[in-house]
Amino acid sequence: MLHMNNLIAGEWVAAADGAVMEVTDPATDEVVGVVPRSGPAEARAAVAAAHGAWPAWRERTAADRGAVIRRLGDLMLRDQDRLARLLTREQGKPLAEAVGEISYAASYLHWAAEEGKRVYGDIIPASAPNKRILVLRQPVGVVAIITPWNFPAAMIARKIGPALAAGCTAVVKPAEVTPLSALAMGELAIEAGIPPGVLNIITGDPEAIGEQLLSHPSVRKLSFTGSTKVGRLLMRKAATNLLRLSMELGGHAPFIVFEDADIDAAVAAALANKLRNAGQTCICANRVYVHAHVHDEFVAKLAAAMSALRLGPGLQPGTQVGPLINDAAVAKVEEHVQDALDRGGRLRTGGARARLDGLSARFFQPTLIENVRPDMKFHSEETFGPVAPVRAFESEEEALRWANDSPYGLASYFFTRDASRLMRVAEALEFGIVGANDAAPSTAQAPFGGVKHSGFGREGGRYVMDDYTQLKYVAWSL
Ligand code: ADP
Repeated sequence: MLHMNNLIAGEWVAAADGAVMEVTDPATDEVVGVVPRSGPAEARAAVAAAHGAWPAWRERTAADRGAVIRRLGDLMLRDQDRLARLLTREQGKPLAEAVGEISYAASYLHWAAEEGKRVYGDIIPASAPNKRILVLRQPVGVVAIITPWNFPAAMIARKIGPALAAGCTAVVKPAEVTPLSALAMGELAIEAGIPPGVLNIITGDPEAIGEQLLSHPSVRKLSFTGSTKVGRLLMRKAATNLLRLSMELGGHAPFIVFEDADIDAAVAAALANKLRNAGQTCICANRVYVHAHVHDEFVAKLAAAMSALRLGPGLQPGTQVGPLINDAAVAKVEEHVQDALDRGGRLRTGGARARLDGLSARFFQPTLIENVRPDMKFHSEETFGPVAPVRAFESEEEALRWANDSPYGLASYFFTRDASRLMRVAEALEFGIVGANDAAPSTAQAPFGGVKHSGFGREGGRYVMDDYTQLKYVAWSL
């Protein structure tokens, strides 16, 4: 069992009152580690450390900052297996997915390390011959970073990479159920040479820590990934100090299969997209719309593939679907399934918890329900579980109308072999991310992010540096 502490100003520190919280394995209920239950005092200390470290960090060259950020990425790859095992133990996903998440996290660090070197300013032609206008792009300052449990390493890498590369310093508060991966990254950050105070990580009470981070005058930005509900709450609190915001919130992705699609490719993509992390991702398909001509074939193939998946603890070789994160998550999936069945949904496979010997009751069978209608919970709420709700459509117009009929706007997917339709539909979908014949769109070089109630701000690509820099202009009279 691991005993880990907060990382504040380069030191490992317990909560001032010694309070701790346990981290448990969702597959077995075993205690994996113990971390501090920190509160306001630790949050203030972490902000003070980040603020103190800022001037020296921002004055380094971008290449210099990039070198240590790159080294952190390299060290994550060096320790990939160890980090992946830890991630699986606290979060539950199959080990192969955890290994993939560590590479994915490192790719964001590597990308940001390079992109920080290309934060250019401008010189604007001025209004008078003796004047010059210089536009500088500067780091925003101390960034508060609050992350969710579904990607305990990647969500942090996606934020600290560009924040630090831009010359900001950071205080990270990881999700309370998955703090070990975050603290393990902190250990590697020290080894990589990230100076004391540049990256601080504190675990504990979300509300108390959040309150301090958002009200502290030294914090200039909040970068948050999590639910729309909490995002909205934090945005209200961030109003007091007029913090800059990056908000990666919930999604409710439509997955459209047109009559001219490559059905086998669409089935394989739906399976991978829907079952990754047992359906606990903000970009996984929540609503599957299939053209009536190909509906039966698609549903039969997807149901067969889903029922063949192997459930088990993430560390067990061959496991394809792990447990859900906690009891409330399973209860929500059960509630959505029951609601659909009560309203005329037809169960094609799954539909209940899987009881596995000696393991927790958090495993849910991959489930496909057809005949889904708009009055079902599936249609409006994020299920966050291994369930594919399917509905047949008759026309492109109908599919697009259904797809856009959501307050969310993060990811969307569609499958077609008609090139004109591909462009038409991609342009019409009201989402930040469109997967066209592609259900794995996330990558470090692309601007991940949503519209509408899925938030704003972009993570990845050259665009990400905008989120951690601000413009200043110098009006210069010669
Ligand atoms: P999820 O549904 O993915 O758990 P949440 O939005 O509940 O998403 O949580 C995302 C992150 O926000 C976690 O780190 C959690 O601890 C944090 N969080 C939740 N409530 C608050 C709050 N009131 N103040 C600050 N952080 C919070």
